[in-house]
Amino acid sequence: MRCEGAAERPNGWRGSNVSGGWVRFKLRKRAGDVDRAVRWIVRHANDHIPFYARTFARAGVQIDAIRGAADLPGLPVVRRDDLLTAGTQGFLRAGADVRALVCKHTTGTTGTPVSVYMTRTEALFRTLSLLDAYRRNVRIPPAFTLVDVGPERKDHATRSTQRVGPVRIVRLFRSLPVAEHVALLRRTRPTLIEGRPSMLWQVARALEAEGVTAIRPCLVISYAEVLYPHVRELLERVFSCRVVDYYNCEEAGNLAWECPDRPGIMHPNPATVCLEVVGPDGRAARCGVEGSVVITNLFNATMPFVRYAMGDRAMLVEPDHCSCGFRGAAMRLVGGRDEDFFVMPDGREISPRVIYDVVNTALPSGGIGDVLAQAIRTFQIVQEECDRIVVRVVPGPQYSDDLWRKLPDSIRALHPAVRVEVTRVDALESESGGKFRQVTSRVRSSWHPSGSDRAASA
Ligand SMILES: [Zn+2]
Repeated sequence: MRCEGAAERPNGWRGSNVSGGWVRFKLRKRAGDVDRAVRWIVRHANDHIPFYARTFARAGVQIDAIRGAADLPGLPVVRRDDLLTAGTQGFLRAGADVRALVCKHTTGTTGTPVSVYMTRTEALFRTLSLLDAYRRNVRIPPAFTLVDVGPERKDHATRSTQRVGPVRIVRLFRSLPVAEHVALLRRTRPTLIEGRPSMLWQVARALEAEGVTAIRPCLVISYAEVLYPHVRELLERVFSCRVVDYYNCEEAGNLAWECPDRPGIMHPNPATVCLEVVGPDGRAARCGVEGSVVITNLFNATMPFVRYAMGDRAMLVEPDHCSCGFRGAAMRLVGGRDEDFFVMPDGREISPRVIYDVVNTALPSGGIGDVLAQAIRTFQIVQEECDRIVVRVVPGPQYSDDLWRKLPDSIRALHPAVRVEVTRVDALESESGGKFRQVTSRVRSSWHPSGSDRAASA
């Protein structure tokens, strides 16, 4: 895509007076701001991050020739494997002290874990740009309450209630029982509710079963997984408001928001990223042609992501002059994370992210981190039958079977009759359609009412 179209360009605009690296913290970036941020971040990456200095030199990149978004295709595409090979230190600003940084772990759509580091200022901008992206869909009062349904509690530093200026963020951690989610939601009076559709679905079904209709947010935000029409309908019915889909990731926060006028169409967010859709050769895919999503993070100078392949598929649609008023790029995500609920022998259905947590937290030091990333490249959890779960793992150089010592007990906590096996595999390939399913089941559940007869990827 031609990224210069990704930013807003009002009539009569002649350029930004924000200078140097600070342009990266501008919320509503215009085309010139995006170009300046690209120019700055590429030079910064080259000058301060060993991995990029090597990669750009090897590709023969002339840094001075990168003047803006339109020049990005002249840079090589970076993949998660490159990041893992370089190691966190090789990807960080030289001299950065990781103890002073905010760290976010991601499993990504490919299932490969990555730790993302940023300063507190960068983390604050990430949050503010996400909230601003919500404002693209609904008017929000200056002070409001955002309820995040079902985030993973990755460490004890993540509080259940947090204030960011006038915004109160309430987290209903997925380790809590659904009944507690319901009770907390009833007490909280949320302005916005966000979460993965599989987590929102679970809570909405519980609310509907109890006949609760008094929770009236002004918007429900879905992210990270496919938002099925039957899930959107349930959420609209239970919360009596619009439900919109957002394309978010740990690497950059919000990547795109669903257009308020055209369901299914998304606008890439020029505050946070320059987003490209590219073919196998790394060159821009034409409008209407599916390709890989590649992002350049415009605000994280601590751990820059320059032309980083997200592992997601998308296609651009005819841009500009959208009826919603946004004058920038438009795209459609193709596929997305689509996981399965697990059905227990007693009929209970367990959310795929709870299943992921049960397996992940059984690993030493409570799950995926930098050390474990050297031991485990990725894993997949497959429910073969109601009482049998198989974990398929791609080992890293420091792998040992002993890593799974606590797993059988964790699985039995779901239901005492469930057994678990761990098998090593060389690779976990995407299924046809290009998506990797980290949590998948061969047992039918109400989440996939037509039946989940997909084979686990092999
Ligand atoms: Zn639009």
